[in-house]
Amino acid sequence: MIKISDFAEFDKYHSYSGGDLGATYSGEKTVFKTWSPHATGVYLNLYLDGEGSNLIETLPMERKGHGVWCVELMYHTEDIFYTFSYEFDNRHRKETIDIYAHACGINGKRGYLTDLTNTDPEGWNDIPRPVCQSPCDAVVYECHVRDFSVDPSSGIPFEDKGHFIAFTKEGSRYHNVTTCLDHLKELGVTHVQLLPVFDYATVDESKPFKAQYNWGYDPLNYNCLEGSYSSDPYDPRVRIREFKELVAALHKNGIGVIMDVVYNHTYFTEESAFEKSFPYYYHRLNRDGRFSNGSGCGNETASEHKMYRKFMIDSLKFLASEFKLDGFRFDLMGLHDIETVNLIREELDKFDPPLLMYGEGWTGGESPMPSDKLAYKWNSYCFGRVGLFNDNIRDAIKGGTFNPYDIGYVSGNRNASAVLKRGLAGSVPHWQLNNAREACWAYEPGQAVNYCEAHDNHTLWDKLSICAKHFSREDRVKMDKLAAALFMLAQGMPFFQLGQDFLRSKPRTPKEGEPLNEVTRVDHNSYNSPDSTNSVKWYEKLENLEVFRYYKALIRLRRSNKLFRLRTKEDVGSCLCFLDTYDDNFIVMKLEDERDCLICMFNPYPEQRHFQLPEGNYYLRLDNRGRVNRTPVSGGQTVPPISAMIFKRFRRQVFEE
Ligand code: CA
Repeated sequence: MIKISDFAEFDKYHSYSGGDLGATYSGEKTVFKTWSPHATGVYLNLYLDGEGSNLIETLPMERKGHGVWCVELMYHTEDIFYTFSYEFDNRHRKETIDIYAHACGINGKRGYLTDLTNTDPEGWNDIPRPVCQSPCDAVVYECHVRDFSVDPSSGIPFEDKGHFIAFTKEGSRYHNVTTCLDHLKELGVTHVQLLPVFDYATVDESKPFKAQYNWGYDPLNYNCLEGSYSSDPYDPRVRIREFKELVAALHKNGIGVIMDVVYNHTYFTEESAFEKSFPYYYHRLNRDGRFSNGSGCGNETASEHKMYRKFMIDSLKFLASEFKLDGFRFDLMGLHDIETVNLIREELDKFDPPLLMYGEGWTGGESPMPSDKLAYKWNSYCFGRVGLFNDNIRDAIKGGTFNPYDIGYVSGNRNASAVLKRGLAGSVPHWQLNNAREACWAYEPGQAVNYCEAHDNHTLWDKLSICAKHFSREDRVKMDKLAAALFMLAQGMPFFQLGQDFLRSKPRTPKEGEPLNEVTRVDHNSYNSPDSTNSVKWYEKLENLEVFRYYKALIRLRRSNKLFRLRTKEDVGSCLCFLDTYDDNFIVMKLEDERDCLICMFNPYPEQRHFQLPEGNYYLRLDNRGRVNRTPVSGGQTVPPISAMIFKRFRRQVFEE
């Protein structure tokens, strides 16, 4: 096997730019194309089923220019499964699924040929995608498909639990409390971000009743969907149709769908379809020739190699258009090179409305790529229109994620306010702020994805139960709500996790011999933990209804006042300032334009604080229970312990046409 020493040079002569890799229908013909410049032979295998020995025939493919192999079938191949076999050095022959396959059978072993319009649900082309002009207008809610409905308290019929279709069920309740789709509608989020729904490797789709679980960051087929979320993983059309029904149900209710994509590594490395189709091309290699491990999962892909870059772009365009998606979240985006990330941004801009795009600005290990070439958070200005998770505001609010006992602004850290103010001001330069420069990294506010809980690490409530364990439960609830006010009202794009709005916990049973304490009782890395840990317990919403109502009120406040959604750093400079409280930790932020003025007071102390409102007539727009009180107020105000109070100035009487 020839190893490539200079990939840029290699790509110049051997890459292929056609848009027809994979299987293409044209009239009554089906054309198969695959790229493998060093292969000595490539074969198409046709099967009756997604697994087992039911080969119909094997056909040799013909070598064309630019490393492409091709075979044409003079008939319309509907309802047939296929694979490719790649032969190298005229002897080693390896069979694998087509990396471009758009549908697959059970456990993603074979591609499937069908006209995808047959999977469209009724009215699919009549439902418009929700309009979202800017990431600042979005409120994103991260959900795992299984967690969403698998608990008995979800109110979803047994046969639909844990499946895509659960998202389409209207009217579900736990006692009188809304669950699932009705919960999303009531909460008022603009987008749902689904943890991986592409075909991942570690859940055996043929065993629906086996106790198995995974987040899905173990990609197998990037253009196919996960079978375990469908009602029939053996019929490749069913998962596609049911996922489209999920998208349709959310779109009908004005909620966008964001897909979590994991192009940064392959699950099986040598045994992946990429490696089998063209060894040592799609993954990055260390100097010693071994796979580098920037993902922490055994390898990392090479987005700078032309044909992997092309694969990513082709794949994203396919997913976005076939499933009418509204955005993508890139796992370990720091492993992708900046040029690729910007090319993807350009492609996603071509959709109407443009898709949201953001990702993790870090990696899971060391990459051999020069660090100035990668989409790391510290290179943020080089891809300013792509969002990045704001770990600065996250840690300032709740404390560092690596030490469970570390405290944040809401739990008593009196050294977190400088970073926090940077976050409130959209992580862009601000004339009043000079400290915490590391937390001033965004090109525009829309680049900052503000959050304090995601699927990784402890839930906010579990974190508080550890680092603030000496406080009463009542105080910890206040801390949770103050944390919510901070990330939700910061300039940028707010992001939170399913159930965070009703104190989600991830309970864990300590292993034998482990002491039982606040740390061992909860799970901080639940990627393959059982449902008992991961599922959302909807009865907790009933128990913590007041917290839910507060989150809901915050979302309404944000969505109804554009001062919380400033688009540019210039707007932040002119509309946002911090008022002097003579105490760095008692933060009062003023937002003002020609129409409105909002005064946001954040008190992290277990005692009340006082503040004199600027001149004018105000009303309490949001109290610590999420309520509005339209009684006019002015002058000195009291902010209760560990809480946020938002005042809004009455609009001046202006006689307008
Ligand atoms: Ca799978």
